[in-house]
Amino acid sequence: MNNKYKVLVVEDEVNIMNLVSALLETNGYQVISAKTCASAKALYASYIPDIIILDLGLPDDDGMNLLKDIRQNSLTPVIVLSARSSEKDKVDALDQGANDYVTKPFGSTELLARVRSVLRNNRHSAQEGRLPGGKFVLNDLLIDYDARRVFIKDCEIKLTQTEYNIVALLSEYSGKMLTYAAIIKEIWGASDDGSIKKLQVNMANIRKKLGAKPGENNYIINELGVGYRMND
Ligand code: CA
Repeated sequence: MNNKYKVLVVEDEVNIMNLVSALLETNGYQVISAKTCASAKALYASYIPDIIILDLGLPDDDGMNLLKDIRQNSLTPVIVLSARSSEKDKVDALDQGANDYVTKPFGSTELLARVRSVLRNNRHSAQEGRLPGGKFVLNDLLIDYDARRVFIKDCEIKLTQTEYNIVALLSEYSGKMLTYAAIIKEIWGASDDGSIKKLQVNMANIRKKLGAKPGENNYIINELGVGYRMND
């Protein structure tokens, strides 16, 4: 029996494909490789991979279309690996259901860390979900979902209802970058012109209350123009 994680790598540049494949294989993953969207679809259907690493610039179609196709009937995690580095590209991919976005050129350790993180979160959400009485722990941070209370080093952090909702949301998806639009939709439902400002104000208060310091490895990371991620 083979119990390795199966990774479908969709990439048309041979050098990058070889690099990513070697990296994954030496770290214990099984790699299935596709150079086009069409072959990726066929291999996806026959292998049902655990995770997909997806380039966007592919010869037969845009990888974004493959992402949309996959998301129509599957939650298989997808990490986009692309040279497109604009905020808009990242936001579009994340809003279409990509679990993470890595820009080329990329670091090997970073890519491996993102793969592990996405697989871990996916396992967590599939098996546990949002359990009543569940707790989230990250270093000194503890979230008690049942009591809707947040602690750092056993000291309670007083959050407003909205601030708590944002922290709880980010923690549920820890490791995953959530776009501004995704957070606004979850927290306030409809968005308006002031939504992003409102989110930023809440987030600034949350970060201050959690003791965030510039330049340090804080609980919540802000990727400017894209969204927020809670470390995991
Ligand atoms: Ca390409």
